[in-house]
Amino acid sequence: MPLRITKPAPYHRIKPDDDCMHEECGVFGIVSNDESIDPAEATYYGLFALQHRGQESAGIAVSSNNKIDYHKDMGLISEVFKGGLDNLAGATSAIGHVRYSTTGDSHLANAQPLVIQSRKGSLALVHNGNLINAKEIRDDLESQGAIFQTTIDTEIIASLIAKNTNGDIISGIKKTMEIVKGSYALVIMTPDKIIGVRDPKGIRPIALGKIDNSYVLASESCAFDTIGAEFMRDLRPGEIIEIDKNGLKSHQGPRADETALCIFEYVYFARPDSDIDGICVHRAREMAGAQLAISNPIEADIVAGVPDSARPAAMGYAEQSGIPYKKALAKNRYVGRTFIQPAQGKRAVGVSLKLNALKRNVRGNRVILVDDSIVRGTTSKRIVEMIKLAGAKEVHMQISSPPIKHPCYFGIDTASHDQLIGEKNSVEEIRKLIGADSLNYLSIEDLLKTVEGAACNFCVGCFNGEYPDNVDHLIKCRTKNVLD
Ligand code: SF4
Repeated sequence: MPLRITKPAPYHRIKPDDDCMHEECGVFGIVSNDESIDPAEATYYGLFALQHRGQESAGIAVSSNNKIDYHKDMGLISEVFKGGLDNLAGATSAIGHVRYSTTGDSHLANAQPLVIQSRKGSLALVHNGNLINAKEIRDDLESQGAIFQTTIDTEIIASLIAKNTNGDIISGIKKTMEIVKGSYALVIMTPDKIIGVRDPKGIRPIALGKIDNSYVLASESCAFDTIGAEFMRDLRPGEIIEIDKNGLKSHQGPRADETALCIFEYVYFARPDSDIDGICVHRAREMAGAQLAISNPIEADIVAGVPDSARPAAMGYAEQSGIPYKKALAKNRYVGRTFIQPAQGKRAVGVSLKLNALKRNVRGNRVILVDDSIVRGTTSKRIVEMIKLAGAKEVHMQISSPPIKHPCYFGIDTASHDQLIGEKNSVEEIRKLIGADSLNYLSIEDLLKTVEGAACNFCVGCFNGEYPDNVDHLIKCRTKNVLD
């Protein structure tokens, strides 16, 4: 019996207002050719490893006996599957998803996997990324009589694949890839196979792994380690990988002139224990810290990183500069990303709940504080204040990426562009606003040095406004909304 979606979520999760860039989603998929590997269980643990990519909703779809069942709900993996996996056990393949919404509202109807039934068969799909021509395609499909159940662009992809498939789903996917523009890493499941797809520019990552005789797909290689799978390789931009009982087949979809992997995967989003397109994320962050120390040497007593994502960069800075690395901030590990946000006037409480200064380490010291990025600046201001109140003589902020001056249209929530502190303020103005004694950012050139040798070129659109696709129509739309 197909699983039913459980009761509607009793509340809408509050969007985390933690002054960070947010990834949209994590995807996972497996076809099991080993009796010892239960696809639903492997997907559940794989999604745990990808939880940092989305915390609003989660879901798993499985295929067994030529039928697709699923369970999805609002919340973390642990919450969504607190009742166990019994109803999904015994399948031959599975796909899963964790979501942070950037298009479409945060509610259950928009949770994934998206499962559709058409006269051509059933299909489940999970997606990480954002289409930049979703509205045009949706208008076009609606004018032809299509009805959509959700507000997510993933449904547009599913609808196009169903429409373009006449027996051979790979041709249907290729035709769909000619129509959709933007970023997408997809895992598609039919009753007898799963298919991984990476957009032609490679903006979002997706990797292939193997465990015993079974193949696995995941947004990041850290998910393979969690289930004991071996990382084989990243999908190439525009590649389609078809996995079934007989093994895997690679197909080439449309090719782009230039590839453009999102460089923010290395700066902040991806887990440090992942490798993406030939580059170890942790190593790239260490090198970013070392580049900062080379480009802007500062006299200080200690180097510290804002937990957790800036620690590797702080360690790289310390190693390069010879200044000792010490912790300046302690993190409350039990504050999730979704607590009730204090009212505007008490916003500082939100930061203090998560971080506190280590007085013993900072008192009387000149502190170099490394962070990966500044989005609105509210958190940086509070952290500088906190460390100074704890007795630091000076606080020098070092940011291991360039100023974020432009919004992202490719699946990353950058806050609305009028809130980006880097958009209208010079570095000196930002320094004054956050109260630091000095402020230095990594240049785009130095950031690119940290990922030299990667299999892809990079998107750095949020730093320089040069995007991998033409987004003029979206910029106009966004500007209009702000002015409205
Ligand atoms: S604009 Fe920035 S966040 Fe968006 S894909 Fe490009 S590098 Fe990544």
